[in-house]
Amino acid sequence: MTKHGFDFDLFVIGGGSGGVRAARISAQMGARVAIAEQDRFGGTCVIRGCIPKKLLVYASAFAEEFEDAAGFGWTVGESVFDWPTLIANKDTEIARLEKIYHKVLADAGVEIFPVRASLKDAHTIYLTNEGSLANESKTVTAETILIATGGRPSRDTGVPGAECCITSDQAFHLEKFPEDIVIAGGGYIALEFAHIFHGLGAKVSVIHRGPKILRGFDTDLSDSLQVSMENKGIRLILNQTFASCEVWGSKVRAVTRSGEALLADQVMLAIGRHPNTKGLGLEQAGVKLSPRGHIEVDAYSRSSVANIYAVGDITGRKELTPIAIHEAMCFAKTLYGGTPASPDHELVATAVFTRPEIGTVGLSEQEAVEAGHDIEIYKSSFRPLKHTLSGRDERAMMKLVVDAKTGTVLGCHIFGPDAGEMVQLAAISMKMGATKAQFDATVAVHPTMAEELVTMHAKPVLRAATKAQRY
Ligand code: FAD
Repeated sequence: MTKHGFDFDLFVIGGGSGGVRAARISAQMGARVAIAEQDRFGGTCVIRGCIPKKLLVYASAFAEEFEDAAGFGWTVGESVFDWPTLIANKDTEIARLEKIYHKVLADAGVEIFPVRASLKDAHTIYLTNEGSLANESKTVTAETILIATGGRPSRDTGVPGAECCITSDQAFHLEKFPEDIVIAGGGYIALEFAHIFHGLGAKVSVIHRGPKILRGFDTDLSDSLQVSMENKGIRLILNQTFASCEVWGSKVRAVTRSGEALLADQVMLAIGRHPNTKGLGLEQAGVKLSPRGHIEVDAYSRSSVANIYAVGDITGRKELTPIAIHEAMCFAKTLYGGTPASPDHELVATAVFTRPEIGTVGLSEQEAVEAGHDIEIYKSSFRPLKHTLSGRDERAMMKLVVDAKTGTVLGCHIFGPDAGEMVQLAAISMKMGATKAQFDATVAVHPTMAEELVTMHAKPVLRAATKAQRY
């Protein structure tokens, strides 16, 4: 019992990136903390997201490396890929990480409930073992409740047959490697899986309802990736959706609205994610949701109910692991560290692990003019040195969006090998308010791709702010 008469100071629902971090740090700061996880500790990122995905990305890169080796004098013998070995090794690593997540919580003194949790009221939590009804479950009380229940893949295609399709959750556990796969979606998850399956040898088609992939990214990034995918032989079917899907013998048959039948071993839906709010008892507790179904929070992650907070994907602010962790850290500092901390969602760098990769931070060209900036655009497109010998027909692209008045770098967009690694460092300088002149005053590291970022001397293209918003 805490000094205020509750079982716990803090009860965290959801043991993913945000929940685990908030529980651990709050306990280390002296709070009496409990956490409930209905599935596996580590959540989406560790169990069915970033980490297993990156392992599959590494696996998928070898085929091109073997091809590229020839130009450097290597003769690589017959290469044979075995999907079950990859999946088994990946599962071993994920199980190891899951144990670590469990251990750090236990070591911090967090009480662990491996069950589903929901709210009875603003201070009471039902703990429900699988198969039992909520009203048969045990209840505990807490002064503060943190909801970090994340999200799940959408199956809302609006057409019959969505149940024949897989989502990213199942893609990590397929028993048999699909020789051909159709992926619906134009976001980063769809495109990363398209590259994974293509790199491992599958015939891949991507069907996307919009005219361009990667909505919201700088158009030079989406255009560069689009060209690269088509050059590799990944088919892009744009401005198109499914009319139906059905099981067709051992395959799945998806028919597009234009009437084309696509027959594949698997059809994967990567069409967005839904917040996990269903059955959480949010209504009973009076927690307000946004029109898109996320928990509405203020600048300190507090919901409409004073003692209930939410962090991570469930709030729909920016659905990325480092954001969930950052929000969790701010939550712990604010409640138990004696320092109010509000998460900062500005200049968040992110990567798309296609091949080549995308690394991006800050405003796209379009966003910058719409935000009222007169801008200078510095852009460079070139063939990476490695491909002069590998012979691969692949170009890299780098772009800086610069405020014309102040010279501040507003956006940095990279398409090329290791773009994710590069953009992390560019983000530090941009967070410090770096100007283009300071980028230019930085001596290049040679020969690298990153040196392009500090050697863009060609006259920039100028674009005026959108008139209505000009300041
Ligand atoms: P989650 O990690 O989803 O954790 C929520 C947890 O709550 C889950 O474990 C769930 O089982 C549990 N839970 C739900 N309801 C209850 C309940 N009622 N009771 C108890 N437990 C409950 N982000 C990146 O930054 N980089 C990437 O490269 C990247 N790649 C991704 C690839 C894929 C395929 C996917 C799907 C996501 C990827 N993400 C990536 C996004 C990232 O995984 C999420 O942003 C992050 O995991 C969000 O953390 P969270 O704590 O909010 O939720």
